[in-house]
Amino acid sequence: MNRKEFLKNSIGIGIGSGLPFLGLFLEGCSNAFIDTSSPGVNFSGKVLIVGAGAAGLTAGYILQRNNIDFEIIEASAVYGGRVKRTTDLADFPIDLGGEWIHEKPSVLSEIINDPSVNASIDFVDYTPQTIQWYKNGKLKDRNWTSGLLSEHKFKSTTWFGFFENYIVPKITNKIRYNQPVSQIDYSGERISVTTNNRTAYEADKVLVTVPVKILQSNMIEFIPALPSEKIANIQKISMDAGLKVFIEFSERFYPDMLFFEGLISAFTQENKSYYNAAFGKATNKHVLGLFAINEKAEKYTRLGTDQAIFEAVMAELDEIFDGKASPHYLGHVVQNWSAEPYIQGSYSDSFDGNRKSIVRTIVKPLNNKVYFAGEAFSIDNQATVHGACESAYSIMKEMLI
Ligand SMILES: Cc1cc2nc3c(=O)[nH]c(=O)nc-3n(C[C@H](O)[C@H](O)[C@H](O)COP(=O)(O)OP(=O)(O)OC[C@H]3O[C@@H](n4cnc5c(N)ncnc54)[C@H](O)[C@@H]3O)c2cc1C
Repeated sequence: MNRKEFLKNSIGIGIGSGLPFLGLFLEGCSNAFIDTSSPGVNFSGKVLIVGAGAAGLTAGYILQRNNIDFEIIEASAVYGGRVKRTTDLADFPIDLGGEWIHEKPSVLSEIINDPSVNASIDFVDYTPQTIQWYKNGKLKDRNWTSGLLSEHKFKSTTWFGFFENYIVPKITNKIRYNQPVSQIDYSGERISVTTNNRTAYEADKVLVTVPVKILQSNMIEFIPALPSEKIANIQKISMDAGLKVFIEFSERFYPDMLFFEGLISAFTQENKSYYNAAFGKATNKHVLGLFAINEKAEKYTRLGTDQAIFEAVMAELDEIFDGKASPHYLGHVVQNWSAEPYIQGSYSDSFDGNRKSIVRTIVKPLNNKVYFAGEAFSIDNQATVHGACESAYSIMKEMLI
């Protein structure tokens, strides 16, 4: 079930206390989320992983633990992909991409899957108390909906910090940066992977973990070409604009959460909200976040520059909060995911057809040589960080047996 399906079902059957903000709230489920049982390794060649986001890093971590030779080829100068952090704005680290833990926090131990690692992580029980709605030029209190919002966030670290602490140290010497892959030739005995700067790598198997938008834009040429059925299904996934803005103010004039549409659409469409980014954190700073995807994000991203986006956001806040934003402004950061050349948007948001069958068609390996993982290709948890990790665990089983 994806997050929208879960939300709709929850509303339909009235599980009020379980309704989340941006995703799933599965407290109380007893099944292990990520199946981390040993992949039953029967492979000893070399693997290339394309992309060092949550899926690529997790795949590398699994290979490392199974003593398999591998390299991670990353287009940008950093690891993390849509998991990214800033420590420049406030006195606590801020997630510029994935932020909420849309699962039981124990999913983090499942991702690490190593009892010898002591993951001592503090969480925030994320249940915002003050909630407002801005509609037709009017700001209204809707605190009674606070019981509908409940999930978890990191208290003193971030999703980026999680990978930095528990995954990356084990594989850091295997990541190659500034290597945008432009061609994957799997026609021969071994696979040849070439980058924009003409560096060539060879391997026995390749795992592609780039965002679905990158596959849709044909940035990577496959030789032979991808089967037409796979191409058609890749095009059935929509991944549109994505934006986050964080602004520090000298005073707090906003609620924990500010929505714009009616109750149902706020909880099911999740397309735009302002939120108190300091909620539950150990800080006295006042930091307001803006989360927007799809057409709600495009309203800002089409303005072109980060400065224009910031000015539009400030004008909107001044309008909503009676001019209180500008006088209390201290600093800001804009993260325009649509403008990131190797991401190009937010996350897989809708599927034109049966989602599971689309995903299963896409992740079918090519000649048992080329494999696919990443948030869009998680069977049950697309659009999340833990879903990207889960997709790595599940494809590794296929790759290594
Ligand atoms: C605004 C926003 C808010 C979000 N909020 C949440 C949240 O609260 N909770 C949550 O769980 N999830 C959230 N998500 C989703 C989550 O961040 C993603 O699902 C997850 O991080 C994706 O991981 P991935 O490994 O699939 O892809 P990515 O992180 O995108 O990694 C892919 C990597 O491939 C690299 N790459 C691309 N092209 C090439 C190439 N040609 N050659 C080599 N490398 C290449 C990229 O640079 C990138 O590093 C959010 C995402 C966004 C954008």
